[in-house]
Amino acid sequence: MGPRLCQVCNEAQSKYKCPSCLAPYCSVACFKKHKENPCALPVSSLENSPTTGPESRVDRPLTVEEPSEVLQRLQLEAVASSSEICSALKDENLQKLILNIDCSPDAEKELEKAMGVDVFRIFTDKILSTLGS
Ligand SMILES: [Zn+2]
Ligand SMILES: [Zn+2]
Repeated sequence: MGPRLCQVCNEAQSKYKCPSCLAPYCSVACFKKHKENPCALPVSSLENSPTTGPESRVDRPLTVEEPSEVLQRLQLEAVASSSEICSALKDENLQKLILNIDCSPDAEKELEKAMGVDVFRIFTDKILSTLGS
């Protein structure tokens, strides 16, 4: 930090500081000029109102018990674009099975039942192999 310039004339080296705003100035003449405008200590942090309003919204993230079970977007795309899976889905039996699982309040039980059906098992195998690739 070298010597600071007078903030009023910006030419001479400042020897003094304004007691109000700490602005450097070089002479009485400059100080008088400076005082023509009201000055105050610069407020570095405007702490008017902290942003903690009355609405304390709880941002609850969507949680999943097993994050690893959630398909990644790429995986979903792979499944969606798989012609094998598409053609498998044309099977009415399979559609019914999936619908059952989808609509059932006890999806896991329905899934278990569906796993006993060849069409469904083959279908899930296809999905798994698509995801694995
Ligand atoms: Zn000056
Ligand atoms: Zn001042």
